[in-house]
Amino acid sequence: MVRFILFLALFLALCYVIKGFLKGLKLRKVLKTGSKQAGEQPPITDELVQDPVCGVYCPKRDALSLNQQGKTYYFCSDKCRQEFREKRNNL
Ligand SMILES: [Zn+2]
Repeated sequence: MVRFILFLALFLALCYVIKGFLKGLKLRKVLKTGSKQAGEQPPITDELVQDPVCGVYCPKRDALSLNQQGKTYYFCSDKCRQEFREKRNNL
């Protein structure tokens, strides 16, 4: 009788594992189709960068950049970039 219960428990555990495996497989399928859809569209390379002057976040491709001392700063507008430059020069 104990053996039967053990067998049943093992069987249930196996069912659980198989269920989990199938779930994972489905999830992977969804992820695959998701990446496929993303591949059809232009890849999103937009990275948000923060303007150190006004603190606004803007996409990197729209932001104006300024290289200073090997560090690149990004700005929402030329006004902010000018302001930052002037501040740096005053320091
Ligand atoms: Zn700004």
